[in-house]
Amino acid sequence: MSEKKPNFIVDAMLGNLAKKLRILGYDSKYFSSIEDDKLIAIAKNEKRVILTKDAPLTKIAEKQNVDSILIRGNDEFEQIAQINAKIKLDRFVMNTNNSRCIACNGNLRSVEKYRIIGKIPEGVLEREEKFWICDSCKKIYWEGTHFEKLQEFVNKLNNRFQ
Ligand SMILES: [Zn+2]
Repeated sequence: MSEKKPNFIVDAMLGNLAKKLRILGYDSKYFSSIEDDKLIAIAKNEKRVILTKDAPLTKIAEKQNVDSILIRGNDEFEQIAQINAKIKLDRFVMNTNNSRCIACNGNLRSVEKYRIIGKIPEGVLEREEKFWICDSCKKIYWEGTHFEKLQEFVNKLNNRFQ
């Protein structure tokens, strides 16, 4: 597979994995329900690697020269390990500037605090300094307390793989 950062299309049942990949900055399309044919067609057209728990689907994809990775288990750390075993991923970086929107896979860009007054709880506005907004769905992000947990997850990934 190529040296370029891979883009993914994530099959149903792997929504949490899609979210983690988006946080880590990987362009990851996800559908909670999609037919195999459509999934493969999108992967082919957009040069995405399919992540799926469906073994027969990987066989069909292979016949059409579409890259796919069979994911096993429910632990996201182990799932990312399975991807990394097939495609060597870059060092993982927890950087919200590079993250994708968890909700829709859109691009995030930083946004000035004054522009989002009234759109998020006041307490958050007082407590946080940096905010990001999704270009597509306009969801607003801040790093908050979950950030440390994610940082731990990323450190654990890097310790294991790099
Ligand atoms: Zn979004």
